[in-house]
Amino acid sequence: MTDTAALTATIDLSAIAHNVRVVAEHAGAPVLAVVKADGYGHGAAPVGRAALAAGAAELGVAHLTEALALRSAGIDAHITSWLHTPATDFAAGVAAGIDLAVSSPEQLAAVAQAAGELGRTAVVTVKVDTGMGRSGVAADRWEQTADLLARLRADDAVRVRAVMTHLPFGDEPDHPINSAQAAALDEAAADLRRRGAAPEVMHLSNSPASLTRPDLSRDLVRPGLALYGGDPIPGRDFGLVPAMTLTAQVALIKRIAAGQGVSYGHMWVAPHDTTVAVLPAGYADGIPRLLSGRFEVTINGRRFPGVGRICMDQLVVDLGRDGGGVAEGDLAVLLGPEPDQNRAVDWAQTIGTIDYEIITGIGGRTERRYLGAPDSGGAQ
Ligand SMILES: *Cc1c(COP(=O)(O)O)cnc(C)c1O
Repeated sequence: MTDTAALTATIDLSAIAHNVRVVAEHAGAPVLAVVKADGYGHGAAPVGRAALAAGAAELGVAHLTEALALRSAGIDAHITSWLHTPATDFAAGVAAGIDLAVSSPEQLAAVAQAAGELGRTAVVTVKVDTGMGRSGVAADRWEQTADLLARLRADDAVRVRAVMTHLPFGDEPDHPINSAQAAALDEAAADLRRRGAAPEVMHLSNSPASLTRPDLSRDLVRPGLALYGGDPIPGRDFGLVPAMTLTAQVALIKRIAAGQGVSYGHMWVAPHDTTVAVLPAGYADGIPRLLSGRFEVTINGRRFPGVGRICMDQLVVDLGRDGGGVAEGDLAVLLGPEPDQNRAVDWAQTIGTIDYEIITGIGGRTERRYLGAPDSGGAQ
């Protein structure tokens, strides 16, 4: 097998397809696949296409620029974007038929103005803050937003596609705020209906809620992490498959003598004569420096400990006295779906973060490759 990339993230699109189906089954509702942040580091366009081919109904992103990039990649599915600033180019969004989720009457007015100038009807979603305290229409701005929406709807300036909200405790399925937020969203939809601006659909569930609270699924669920095979509730197995395998080619193997320190600060000193491998992966590629000395890699099915500081470009693995049968050019698996490989959640728990941060951070010089593309019949 020739493999020229030093560091490769292989994305298995059939795993994405599998995860879409798992989430839809648990939720009892179609999936709006969240592909923001370049598909959580997996590539927004290929992941989006794979999710749609597997039955996802729509796509969602944060920034409008992300939505426009998906359109440029030839994806004509319904796409919602929900995080805007006063400088956001709503005219471009309207022209591209992007569903613009607004968080204030000012944003709604700006969208309507852009649509008016283009002579088009804007597609809008109202993002309601029912308890997240982040983006979304604040309670004290609801009246003004709903009022404006009703007037714009009456003028055919907007099509009211959806109301949505976001859960701060989706990963605590039994937290009472989840049901309260769903009720608040239902009430917002009812209010718009009374005003003649009924939304076509409602959605609130993120990955953990989609998997555990089907009673909260309204017309769609809005998972991100689960589609990539992350662990939305660490410790609970939903049968999701990690889509990313991160491999580094062994760059160099060397013998080092007992007492030799390795990497910056000689955080690790060889306790006996041993053999180490240098891998071309570092914190510039998204391998957290905090993992230094606290992780293992899998090479040829055997696990070896990382030793010394993780550097910007390289890290070091202890192969043991006999070198473990590893040769330069062999592939070390840093993250992968197999039982003997690390999941992102393992790294996350080691360093006190969440797997979302790990997978979205993989990048730098990592080359992405895709397997199981839907249009190639599952072949490479
Ligand atoms: C990121 C995001 C999601 C997806 O959340 P996950 O926990 O990854 O499933 C859903 N909705 C909104 C508004 C988001 O910003």
